[in-house]
Amino acid sequence: MKGEIIAVGTELLLGDIVNTNAQFISQKCAFIGLNIYYHTSVGDNSSRLATVLHSSLSRSDVIIITGGLGPTKDDLTKEVVAKVLNKPLKLNWQWYKTINKIFSKRATIMPSNNIKQALIPKGAEILTNKNGTACGIYINSHGKHLFLLPGPPREMFPMFEDKVLPKLFELEENLGRIHSRVIKTYGIGESALVEKIDDIITNQTDPTICTLAKNDGIHVRITTNTDQDKITKTLSTVEMRLKEYVWGYDDDSVNQLIVKTLKDKKLSVSTVESCTGGAIASSLTDVPGSASVYTEGTVLYTEQSKANFLHCSLTEIPQGGIEEQLTIKLAKRAKEVFSTSIAFAITGALGPTAPKGVEVGTIFMAIVLDNKIVSKEFKFYGSRENIKEKAILAALHLIYK
Ligand code: ATP
Ligand code: MG
Repeated sequence: MKGEIIAVGTELLLGDIVNTNAQFISQKCAFIGLNIYYHTSVGDNSSRLATVLHSSLSRSDVIIITGGLGPTKDDLTKEVVAKVLNKPLKLNWQWYKTINKIFSKRATIMPSNNIKQALIPKGAEILTNKNGTACGIYINSHGKHLFLLPGPPREMFPMFEDKVLPKLFELEENLGRIHSRVIKTYGIGESALVEKIDDIITNQTDPTICTLAKNDGIHVRITTNTDQDKITKTLSTVEMRLKEYVWGYDDDSVNQLIVKTLKDKKLSVSTVESCTGGAIASSLTDVPGSASVYTEGTVLYTEQSKANFLHCSLTEIPQGGIEEQLTIKLAKRAKEVFSTSIAFAITGALGPTAPKGVEVGTIFMAIVLDNKIVSKEFKFYGSRENIKEKAILAALHLIYK
């Protein structure tokens, strides 16, 4: 079976929104081995959508369309599909009642516009939507399988998992699970990493190996569509080669690992942040249950605030408040003030300008654990945003270590 995705919405063409629906659907299809050969984005325009649909019907077996199922005039996906397939729209009482119920739960009367959302092409099947008033639609037209799904990802994603995937498995028994594992590394660039495992990448056909540069480091993905056990052996070989850089697997994120590890070891951590403005604390507290690990922290963004925290005079703070010794002092003071097992401090210059004597991208971090102090200086390049992102990630990895 050949598949393709059509995303409907003028917003996509204007660049107002990114087509994350196509990304999500493609990833899911790749995972089950359904080849997706085309992604098309088309505006809210009947004749252009009809043109796209005609070519899709001529070349694909599975056509997944997202967007344009809303109640307003510019939502015209169903109308166009009905016309192209010659399956007139009919009121579906079951979905009409469902929409009515949704509105009565909101204590409002169903606007007459929404009746449109209960119309479905003749002979089509409803795919229920738990998060909205637009139902999904499945149509089998002369062996072509069309899925119409709402645009909002929070509605579309669960519908795809719950309704579309089972249907695809029903349609094609050869669709299988692709097994894959991901090894996550940090502190090594992609080309240096590839050098270390180049022979494995080149000689391996099943499982296959690829590297992916992600925000949290370089990932190595090992994939097979045959025997899951084949992955295990390759995984441990790759792991051995990359040992010191490996920090996680699959869905792991470093903030979650920090919370889990500290919880297991019954340790707590506090943070003093200057240049990252609380982002490290924010990342740690993103993890549910982090309260048992992350208790307190503070943002000290000025020289004066650093002097106040250290109970010293402003003259003792280096100009700009960015310096290794100062960062160590902040971490030590945090350990006293917050009484945590680990205290972390960060100062640095994100740019675009930096205090005299400090280069943009210079970041100091210090971490105190019992009586052990580790301090590190980093030099990051890029925009202010880039440098901040890199500093946050480096900080999390330093805490994780
Ligand atoms: P609604 O009832 O909300 O109008 P709809 O099915 O008509 O739903 P659209 O009007 O096309 O969908 O899009 C609604 C919203 O869904 C968009 O404003 C956008 O936020 C999101 N959206 C639509 N298509 C996509 C897409 N391809 N990728 C990511 N988000 C999308
Ligand atoms: Mg809409």
